[in-house]
Amino acid sequence: MAQEDIFKKLVAHCKEYGYVFQSSEIYDGLGAVYDYGQYGVELKNNIKKYWWDSMVLLHENVVGIDSAIFMHPTIWKASGHVDAFNDPLIDNKDSKKRYRADVLIEEQLAKIEEKINKEVDKAKKRFGDAFDEKQFRETNQRVLDNQAKWDALHNRFAQALNDGNLDELRQIIVDEEIACPISGTRNWTDVRQFNLMFATEMGSTADGALKVYLRPETAQGIFVNYLNVQKTGRMKIPFGIAQIGKAFRNEIVARQFIFRMREFEQMEMQFFVRPGSELDWFEKWKETRMKWHRALGFGDENYRFHEHEKLAHYANAAVDVEYKFPFGFKEVEGIHSRTDFDLSQHEKFSGKKIRYFDPELNESYVPYVVETSIGVDRMFLQVISASYCEEQLEKDSRVVLKIPAVLAPVKLAVMPLVKKDGLPEKAREIIDNLKFDFNCQYDEKDSIGKRYRRQDAIGTPFCVTVDHQTAEDNSVTIRYRDTMEQERVAIADLGKIIGAQVSMKNLFGKI
Ligand code: ATP
Repeated sequence: MAQEDIFKKLVAHCKEYGYVFQSSEIYDGLGAVYDYGQYGVELKNNIKKYWWDSMVLLHENVVGIDSAIFMHPTIWKASGHVDAFNDPLIDNKDSKKRYRADVLIEEQLAKIEEKINKEVDKAKKRFGDAFDEKQFRETNQRVLDNQAKWDALHNRFAQALNDGNLDELRQIIVDEEIACPISGTRNWTDVRQFNLMFATEMGSTADGALKVYLRPETAQGIFVNYLNVQKTGRMKIPFGIAQIGKAFRNEIVARQFIFRMREFEQMEMQFFVRPGSELDWFEKWKETRMKWHRALGFGDENYRFHEHEKLAHYANAAVDVEYKFPFGFKEVEGIHSRTDFDLSQHEKFSGKKIRYFDPELNESYVPYVVETSIGVDRMFLQVISASYCEEQLEKDSRVVLKIPAVLAPVKLAVMPLVKKDGLPEKAREIIDNLKFDFNCQYDEKDSIGKRYRRQDAIGTPFCVTVDHQTAEDNSVTIRYRDTMEQERVAIADLGKIIGAQVSMKNLFGKI
C-alpha cells in the first residue's frame, strides 16, 4: 500500500479509537489544533514519563521545572524572537494557498534524493549479495547526475537562507519549476517573512494592557530561571534543567496531522556547561538522545541525523534527529549548541548578572548551553506510525497497534469468557488487585475474538481471559498482542509477568 494511504488510515484510526480528535470538531474544527482522546492522553503521558525519567531520574545533575506560559514580553525581545522568529512564506496566486518557501525547496531536495534511492534499490535487487552500495553510488551515472543536482540546489538554498535573501528563495522556486500542488501553476507571489508568535493582552485596557506572547518555545522559561535553580539547588556546572510544557506557533502551513500544530507540547532540556566544552557536550547529548529513540525498537535504519542548512541566530552547532514517517524523513528533535547567547542577552536586557562562579577555575562566566528539544506530539506520531500494522491472518485480517508495552495506554484487558457463573466477579477481582500498578480495562461484551480485535486496535499488549477452569485452579489464559500466542498462567503470577514487560527499566538499560 502507498505510504500516503497508510498515513490516511493511521489518521482515521487515531480518531476512531479515541487517540486524537480534531479540536472543536462540532464547529468544523480549528486549523492545526488537536485534542487527545482517552487513549491518546495515556500514550502522551507515558511518552512524557519516558523522557522525564530518562533526564531527571537517570542524571543526578539534571533537575526539572515548570515555568509559566506567560512571561515578561522583554524576554522575547532579548531572545531575538520578536525580530527574528520568522518563516519565509509564499502564496500561489491561483489557488490562493500559502506555503513555506523553505519547505517547498526542501521537498524538491527530497524528490531528488528519492530518485537516487530508487536507483540504488533497483540495483540492490538486481545484484543481490554481491552489491556494493558505496561503489554504485560513486560510479553510476544517473546517481552521479542526480547527486550533482542535489548538491547544487542544496548549496544555493543554504546560501539563500544564510543571507536571508528572500528574492533568491523565490528565484530557486521559479528555476526549479516548483508548482502549487493544488492549482498546478507556478504563479507565485514574492516571498515575505512572517513572525510565528501569537500575541495577546494582559490586564484591563483602563490600566494600560501589556502586550504578551504565548511562548513559542519552553526554553526561555528555563533560561530566566537559571539563577534560581542554580542557587536554590546548589547546582554545579555541568548541570541541566528539564521542562515539559505547551508552546504556540502561528505556523504558516499546517498539514500532516499532529506533525505541525499551532498549539503543541515540547520536552526541552538546557544543559549548562563551561565555555569551550560545549561541542563535546553537544556530541554526548547527540549520542544519548539517539539511543533514547532507538531503545524503542522501531528500527535503527529509520533514524538519521540531519545537519542544519542554516544555524539559528543563537547556535554554533545544530543537528536534528529525523525519523522516517510515512511521508518521509522528518525532524522529531533538535539538538543545539546555543552558546552563551540567551543568558548574555538576558543579562543585557534585565541588567542582572547571570553568571556562574566556577570554584575549580576560580572565575565567573556566563555558562554555555547545549539544548535538546523534542516535540511530544511528533514523538506521539512517531510511535503511532511505527506501531500501526495491518496483518493478514489465516481466516481474516486485523489492525494492530504494536506500541511498545512500556508506552501502551492500556496494559491489560481482563475478560470473563461468559457473563455468568461468577466469571465477571473473578475478572473484577483480578483488576482490583492489579489496577494500582497497571492501567487495566474490563471487557465482557461480544465474542472473545471480537474483544481481542478491539484490544489489538488500541494496542493493549496483554489480554487475560477468565474461564471455568479459573474457579478450579486460579489460573487464566494470557494472550500476547504481537504473537497472538496464549499461555495458561497462575493469577498470582500475572503482576510479575506484566510488570517485567512494562517496566521503563527495559528502555533505560539501553540508553
Ligand atoms: P520545523 O523546522 O519542523 O518547523 P523547528 O526546527 O522550528 O521545526 P524547533 O524550534 O527546533 O523546531 O523545536 C523543537 C521541536 O519542537 C521540534 O523538533 C519538533 O519536535 C517540535 N515542534 C516544533 N514546531 C512544532 C509544531 N508546529 N508542531 C508540533 N511540534 C513542533
